Formats: sequence, structure tokens, C-alpha cells
Amino acid sequence: MRTDADARDEIVQITNELFAMGLLTPTGGNVSARGATDELIWITPSRLYKGGLTSDALVCIRADGTVVEGTNPPSVEYQMHWASYAARPEATAAVHTHAPVATAFGITNQTFPPINTDAIFLADTRAVPWFMPGSTELAEAVGEALKASRGAILQCHGLMTVGKSMRDAATRAMMLEETAKILLYCKQFGGELTLIPPEWVERLAQLSSFL
Ligand SMILES: [Zn+2]
Repeated sequence: MRTDADARDEIVQITNELFAMGLLTPTGGNVSARGATDELIWITPSRLYKGGLTSDALVCIRADGTVVEGTNPPSVEYQMHWASYAARPEATAAVHTHAPVATAFGITNQTFPPINTDAIFLADTRAVPWFMPGSTELAEAVGEALKASRGAILQCHGLMTVGKSMRDAATRAMMLEETAKILLYCKQFGGELTLIPPEWVERLAQLSSFL
């Protein structure tokens, strides 16, 4: 069972990893984790510079955004995080990145052809149209998208992923960026895409629940 201390440690660890990888911008993106009870989540604070985040900057909130612990205001995307947990009861962590290549992938309405195994695992990723960041409308649209996939690309904005563990949520966010990057390189080379044969796509798709 995860404790509040575990939740805080995991958020700090993953936020620092994602920032170092360039998937969070200095103030863009946010990470949350369920704490010891289902009524509360821990989340990164609003606007604060994400490089070198420490656990005393984190905030514990209820579903309506009221702060139970912590001195900073919570991320303005707190409703989107709560909608993600509502959509995926098994999820214990949610990661919202502003990953540049995957965001551009969404803006240009790309989909993942079966160019490698990760692309097959990510083929169910949903695109969410533009809504104002921090709005209830965005939270509701992301919640709907996450019922169909554990990853969503928010057009003209960023990404949202959830996972049974913090590591799963972060891995999916990293896979989305890496796979979008490979597809971008393929398109820059400009040759014909070589695709994994359909019978293998079917077999590999059955393994996608591991993440
Ligand atoms: Zn954002």
C-alpha cells in the first residue's frame, strides 16, 4: 500500500526525470499520485519552476481542489488529474507533459502506424481537441479519452498518461515522445514506411496491457 510519503517521493523522482528529458517545460506540465486514501491526491504546485522540485513544494488536495496539506497553490490542471483517476479507477498516478515531438504529432493529426512494437502498444492513444488549459471542459474531454486508452494527446497543448504505478504512467509518456520522434525521423527520411505484418500487429497488440 502506498503511503503519502511514497506518493511524494515518486512525484519528485518522476518530475525531475521528465524535466531532465525535456518533456516538462520550466512551468508547463504536472504530475500527481494517489495518496494513502482515495479522497486525496498529491500534485505538483501551480507555475513553480519544475527543475529541482522538492517534496515540500507538493500539495495534497481534495477533488474540489481544496488544499489539505502544503503551502503552494495546486496545479491549475488539478481537475484534469481528478478526471483521469475517475476514468481509470486502477490508476495510481497521472503524468501531464508538454513533450515537444508528441505535442507536434498531435497538432498535425498524426496516428501511429505499426513501425515498431511501441507504436503498436500506443495505437489506441486518443487525441483530445483544444480546450482552455485548466478548464472543466478539458478535464471532462481528457477523462473520456482515458476511458479508451491510458494515454491522450491534447491538441495544441501536451499529453496526459495514467498508470497502475507512477513508473507505468511515466513510461507511457516517454514512449509517446520516443515513438513520435521515430515517426518524425521516418517522415524526414521520406522513404516508404516498412510496417510490421498484420498478423504480428494482432499478436503484439494483445500484449499491450502490460503497461
Ligand atoms: Zn499543460
